[in-house]
Amino acid sequence: MKAEPDFCPFCGTQGELNEIESSMLEVDSDYWLIYHWVCNFCGEQFDKVELSDYQEIEEVSALEDFQDIP
Ligand SMILES: [Zn+2]
Repeated sequence: MKAEPDFCPFCGTQGELNEIESSMLEVDSDYWLIYHWVCNFCGEQFDKVELSDYQEIEEVSALEDFQDIP
């Protein structure tokens, strides 16, 4: 599932988002995808973290573990 935003959350400009290489993180056998975008217009960068399609687990504990990573 692709969750590309329609517009920049900082300046609201549409169609100026460049996706940077996304990262994947494994936490307790759960896989998290971290998408990165940068806005061509204002230069702001933002991320979106999603539980990947590899496993569909909706446990809150997974989120807590994710935040414990240094
Ligand atoms: Zn922007």
